[in-house]
Amino acid sequence: MNNRVEMKVLSPEERINNFEEVAQGYSLEEAIMEASRCLNCKTKPCVNKCPVNIDIPSFIKEIKGNNINEAYKVITNNNLLPGICGRVCPQETQCESSCVRGIKGESIAIGRLERFVSDNHHEEKQNDIQRINGKIAIIGSGPAGLACSGVLISKGYQVDVYEAMHKNGGVLIYGIPEFRLPKKIVLKEINNLKSLGVNFINDVVVGKTITLEELYEQYDAVFIGTGAGLPKFMGIPGENANGVLSANEFLTRINLMKAYKDEYFTPVRKMKNVAVVGGGNVAMDAARCAKRLKANVYLVYRRGLEEMPARKEEILNALEEKIEFKNLCNPVEILYDENKNVTGIKCQEMILGEADESGRRKAIPKENSYFTLDVDTVIMAIGNHPNPLLKNSTDLVEYNKYGCLVVDENGRTNIDKIYGGGDVVTGAATVILAMEAGKKSAIAIDKILNKKK
Ligand code: FAD
Ligand code: SF4
Repeated sequence: MNNRVEMKVLSPEERINNFEEVAQGYSLEEAIMEASRCLNCKTKPCVNKCPVNIDIPSFIKEIKGNNINEAYKVITNNNLLPGICGRVCPQETQCESSCVRGIKGESIAIGRLERFVSDNHHEEKQNDIQRINGKIAIIGSGPAGLACSGVLISKGYQVDVYEAMHKNGGVLIYGIPEFRLPKKIVLKEINNLKSLGVNFINDVVVGKTITLEELYEQYDAVFIGTGAGLPKFMGIPGENANGVLSANEFLTRINLMKAYKDEYFTPVRKMKNVAVVGGGNVAMDAARCAKRLKANVYLVYRRGLEEMPARKEEILNALEEKIEFKNLCNPVEILYDENKNVTGIKCQEMILGEADESGRRKAIPKENSYFTLDVDTVIMAIGNHPNPLLKNSTDLVEYNKYGCLVVDENGRTNIDKIYGGGDVVTGAATVILAMEAGKKSAIAIDKILNKKK
């Protein structure tokens, strides 16, 4: 009972040749066995650590009794995207980190069980809800916008989601690769929202095709969930050479343009030796995609393995897939030939000093410790800023000096009836935090609109 039920995964040898989902999910028997380990604790420490407060012991109890549809209802009272969250949320630092079972053994695999329920419940026809409460415009169809739309539609509002891309889901669709989050799962959860009545309006860039001011005029309230899609670069010599790209661009080509399939032609470089710079989830995803394109991949990160911000599970997956980690190394220059094509990346070794204000140990350059990796491609995955397009098009709402939308604790901007949340407010963060922000804003919007009646 101390150890969790293992989940089947594709072997590293098999998975580096395709983009299929690595983690295969539990069978019914495995899910019930894992659910049976739950102690149904009265104090529910796991619930307190879940940003959207799912009633975890209750849904696990339903799995134990083989009531999967009931389990789904319990989860979706608080989270409309369980198939996504079960796969990509950092449960190990949230609900699972406070699980009582974790004291003497392994915590309950809450994320795996959440995923199981989402993948195995049976659709029930939704009742038509009378739309009477007002009209809301949501800008951006990432997790923040989706969560906001889910709450508002269930409260009887007309909800129109304006999305710049031709597909909905934000980073869930164009950022996180198929082998970690299959697109059919995202599509299924978006289709659930559509069946509830959420109206998605694609290929509309708010700030260009239509202005924020126009939406503010036409709707009773507006929610801004435009995310953080502007990649950061290091500002080192050689960064303009051919063969340096942002992880955003690389992953978007892979996810939306299927650059890895022979039948699609997109101008993705044929890469043999690649350096991915960064240590977060985005860096792991880029490195593992490059591996699947048959490249030899280095992952260059200035701190140690322990300090990497990526999920542990993803670091282990990357190591198993034979990505060569170059920890405690920082790029100082990108080298290129007379045609400006990348030929290498010059790095400097680092040592770890005292913890800085973020609590992580500072990386300090080691003197005379330069070395070069021979690569033809460099992928930068060192973080993102909020997308500036909407910000630059309006004076209506306030942004701070980092380009983040300024909101109060309920998600309200300086303008009554304009709310915002997710990465556009916090900078690049997590799916569940974006969802929590979307949900909080939806509740606040409902409160102010109801008061005004
Ligand atoms: P986004 O998901 O960025 O969605 C914003 C949407 O707004 C986009 O669809 C965009 O096209 C649209 N938009 C922008 N501007 C406009 C405009 N002017 N008009 C109309 N539409 C507009 N988090 C985790 O929890 N676990 C993980 O494992 C994980 N892995 C990640 C891997 C990658 C590669 C990346 C990039 C991120 C990862 N994250 C992960 C982070 C997580 O995906 C984000 O924190 C989350 O998606 C933020 O949600 P959001 O709704 O705020 O923004
Ligand atoms: Fe079950 Fe762990 Fe939550 Fe207790 S803390 S109810 S064992 S999931």
